[in-house]
Amino acid sequence: MNTTRPSDTARLRSAPGEAVPSGTPFYQPQGNEVALYEAAYAARLPVMVKGPTGCGKSRFIEFMAHRLQRCLITVACNEDMTASDLVGRFLLEPDGTRWQDGPLTLAARTGAICYLDEIVEARQDTTVVIHPLTDHRRTLPLDRKGETVHAHPDFQLVISYNPGYQSLLKDLKPSTKQRFVAFEFDYPDAVLEAHIVHAETGLDTARAAQLVQIGHAARQLKGHGLTEGISTRLLVYAATLIMGGVAAREACRIAMVRPITDDADIRQTLDHTIDAVLA
Ligand code: ADP
Repeated sequence: MNTTRPSDTARLRSAPGEAVPSGTPFYQPQGNEVALYEAAYAARLPVMVKGPTGCGKSRFIEFMAHRLQRCLITVACNEDMTASDLVGRFLLEPDGTRWQDGPLTLAARTGAICYLDEIVEARQDTTVVIHPLTDHRRTLPLDRKGETVHAHPDFQLVISYNPGYQSLLKDLKPSTKQRFVAFEFDYPDAVLEAHIVHAETGLDTARAAQLVQIGHAARQLKGHGLTEGISTRLLVYAATLIMGGVAAREACRIAMVRPITDDADIRQTLDHTIDAVLA
C-alpha cells in the first residue's frame, strides 16, 4: 500500500502555466479529463481509468488527488490478494486479538481517494467487497468484525483496468463495470508525448521526439508479434538513461526494446529502427 498526501515532496514539477497546489506531480492532460474528473469527484462517482500499461493512468490519479487536496491510498492488486487484504483482519497479539483496517477501510473511514491499480488481477471475491461502496449505500461491511463502515463524504473509489490483458478468465464482471464512470486513456500524440519525456527527464525536445518516433514504430507492431507497444513509461526510462550519460542507442535498446520482446526478429527490426532514427 502506498499513501500519498498533498504535502509529499515526491514528483515536484507542475505543468507549465497551471495553477496547482505546490507539490503537485507533473501531469500533461490529453483532453478535458481534468475537468471531467473534477465533475465525477464532485458527485463522488466511482471512477475507472482504462488503457494500456504506462500511458499515464496512475499519474493522472496522483495529479487529481493533489489538485483536489485529498489523500491517495494506492493498492497494487495481484492474484494472491484476498478481500481481507483490502478490508482488514484481526491480528494475534500477546494479550488477545486486534483489528487492523485494510487500505480500503482506511480510505473509506478517512475520506481518502482509494486507487485499486489493476483490479482485474484480484480474485472475484475481492471485487465483490467494493460493490456496496460504489452505489448509493457507500458502505463497507466488515463481516468478521460485525461493523458496517459508512464512507466519509470525501471518499472516492478509483480502479484501473487494462483492456489489452483481458481474457474470458480475467475480466471484470458487468455488474462491477457498471458501477463506474470510465476514462479511456491511450498513449498521447507525438507532440504531447515528446513534451512529457522532456518534462520528466530534461532531455532536449529534439531527442525526445526521436524516442517518440521509435515508440510509434514499435506500436505499429502491436498485434504483429508484439502484445503491447513501447509505453510512455519506457520512453521516460530511455531518456533518463541518456540524461545519466548512457549512449542513446544503448539506452533505447535496454529501456525500449529488450523489456517488451524476446522475439529475435522483432528485436532486430526495432534495433534497426533505433539506428535509423538516431542516425
Ligand atoms: P499507468 O498507465 O501504467 O498507470 P503511469 O501513470 O505510471 O502509467 O505512467 C508511467 C510514466 O509515464 C509516468 O511515471 C510518467 O513518467 C509518464 N507519463 C505518462 N503519461 C503522462 C502524462 N500524461 N503526464 C505526465 N507523465 C506521464
